[in-house]
Amino acid sequence: MGIPAHREAELLAQVPTGLLIDGEWRDAAGGARFDVEDPSTGKVLLSIADASTEDGALAMDAAAAAQESWARTAPRERGEILRRAFELVTERAEDFALLMTLEMGKPLAESRGEVTYGAEFLRWFSEEAVRVSGRYSTSPDGKSRLLVTKKPVGPCLLITPWNFPLAMATRKIAPAVAAGCTMVLKPAKLTPLTSQLFAAVMMEAGLPAGVLNVVSTTSAGDVTGPILKDPRLRKVSFTGSTAVGQGLIRDAAHNVLRTSMELGGNAPFLVFEDADLDKAVDGAMAAKLRNMGEACTAANRFIVQDTVADEFAERFAARVGAMATGRGTEDETKVGPLIDAKSRDKVHSLVTDALDGGARALVGGAPEEGPGYFYQPTVLKDVAPDARILKEEIFGPVAPIVTFSTEDEAVALANNTEFGLVSYVFTSDLNRGLRIGEKLESGMLGLNAGVVSNAAAPFGGVKQSGLGREGGAEGIEEYLYTQYTGIADPYAG
Ligand code: NAD
Repeated sequence: MGIPAHREAELLAQVPTGLLIDGEWRDAAGGARFDVEDPSTGKVLLSIADASTEDGALAMDAAAAAQESWARTAPRERGEILRRAFELVTERAEDFALLMTLEMGKPLAESRGEVTYGAEFLRWFSEEAVRVSGRYSTSPDGKSRLLVTKKPVGPCLLITPWNFPLAMATRKIAPAVAAGCTMVLKPAKLTPLTSQLFAAVMMEAGLPAGVLNVVSTTSAGDVTGPILKDPRLRKVSFTGSTAVGQGLIRDAAHNVLRTSMELGGNAPFLVFEDADLDKAVDGAMAAKLRNMGEACTAANRFIVQDTVADEFAERFAARVGAMATGRGTEDETKVGPLIDAKSRDKVHSLVTDALDGGARALVGGAPEEGPGYFYQPTVLKDVAPDARILKEEIFGPVAPIVTFSTEDEAVALANNTEFGLVSYVFTSDLNRGLRIGEKLESGMLGLNAGVVSNAAAPFGGVKQSGLGREGGAEGIEEYLYTQYTGIADPYAG
């Protein structure tokens, strides 16, 4: 049982295939198009407009032209557009879920989870839109008044990755709308369809022309490079790899842009001997296999106390080995394909390097026959400390396990990375959990929890995992700047 082919075709027929510029769906200059594939079959789903430098410039013009009136729109009105968008996405949850499964590969149950998570940013920021405030105070010497207000930063360039096609877009678009910023969105070329459909929903929800412009493209740098140099742009918000983020930070220096960077991760997953092992294994399954391991928050290194390592590994491997791979539209599928052949080959090279260095595969350890880019869910034990798999982001369903004996050793292993997005700690001792949390260098911590993402929480990293926060009360601040007005003493004659 799965989704009938005609349902897929009917949904794809509803996805806009143009570029969204100034409220209109247009062809790319010269009519260029590119194909979007299903990673579970390699077959083309849809062909859409492929933006050029020229199209990017038109999108930037539209965002700049709309900025002034959009910033003056009543906060309640902006909030209500977001609220309507939340309702429309929720009504069409099955469409969004299926579309993500088709272009990205994740099982439908996970796509449904992402729709709930992604839509929640629309609801959360619909509420935040009317809560932006400032302050008025008397200066310490009593001779003046200080008025502090918040203003939208202005036109933003938003660049999103392929792994969470809806949530990575709503996490940026919703706070930008709430704050009163206009946008040029450049989705990932591997999964642009969800953004295309979402942009149509935003227009249906009442977003004025020019506020959100969408330029899907196969030439990311050609489109975004000139936009980053445009003096009318005020901010770039990026989610993706650290290497690309570093290049964008360099480009952003040109006009000293505000930047938000959600970059790569190398999350440690610490299991102490006092942990409830059932809960630790449940947490490990979620932290590792959600999204086929293709998540910046995916547990990348399992660091387990030596006294419980064998038992944890055995139970975890039994659960991982039972995870059926397959097309995400099939009911029995628990793990979908990786996004492309390059990603699958990279995962396999990390596994091969670990096995060559003495690791043992308790389960899995190899790619699966095509079509599609499947990799066997894998657990590796006895991984050597210098293995590449402990240093690089795996982005696949592979769990390497290493052991420790003391708390200090666990912390040293966990912090031994240039990344610092999220850490997971499993222990029944709350004091230990809090103590370890204070010592870990990461922007987020899962304490006896394998998933931390929540629209009401500040998501983001430290070290080379990024700058800024998305979601929570902090999320809207990324799209606001502070203006201070000094006022002469109203009592002075
Ligand atoms: P990527 O860096 O290859 O691409 C991300 C986006 O940047 C895509 O839209 C891509 O087209 C665009 N891009 C690539 N080169 C560019 C350039 N020179 N100029 C402008 N844009 C460019 O990353 P990816 O493979 O799509 O996503 C996976 C990465 O994203 C992983 O490293 C993952 O950890 C990270 N990620 C981070 C978070 C987070 O919140 N920290 C969330 C999801 C994914």
